Amino acid sequence: MNNRFWSHVDKSGDCWIWTGRRDPCGYGRYHTGSEHLAHRLSWTWCRGLIPDKMYVLHRCDNPPCVNPEHLFIGTQSDNMIDGITKGRVRLPPQDGEQNHQAKLTAALVEKIRVRYAAGGVLQRQLAVEYGLTSVSAILTGDEWPTAPGPLKKKRVVYRPGRAVRSWYRANA
Ligand SMILES: [Zn+2]
Repeated sequence: MNNRFWSHVDKSGDCWIWTGRRDPCGYGRYHTGSEHLAHRLSWTWCRGLIPDKMYVLHRCDNPPCVNPEHLFIGTQSDNMIDGITKGRVRLPPQDGEQNHQAKLTAALVEKIRVRYAAGGVLQRQLAVEYGLTSVSAILTGDEWPTAPGPLKKKRVVYRPGRAVRSWYRANA
């Protein structure tokens, strides 16, 4: 093991804290000819080589921690998911409507349909309550057609047939 490396590590707590230089995200940086991430070096020395394109992630969500017990190997998407669930990574903002649609789940769609079918609530109120631009397409099943819940009947627009139209033309 690399003694110079471990001399920069404070092992007094559960997390082994890198006391050397850190990057803006709080990850330890270490020079051995070229610059490395301290927790990746720790993994390499304690556990072995990191497979290509894989990431060393923190179970403890403590970036300067280099305790191999707190580290695990994951893919880039694990890294993203890890960051998102821990609030470190923010997904790029989407435009309002898409964002709102993304918040919906089939269970929520069902709830909206059931509440509307029960009556006493306006579409507008439901839309506001659930942060949607409109709930009408959800209620008619134009959106979320496979989600459960009672569907609202679409308003039938009366279109006179050809015979009726020609009768009107002839008699107008
Ligand atoms: Zn830790």
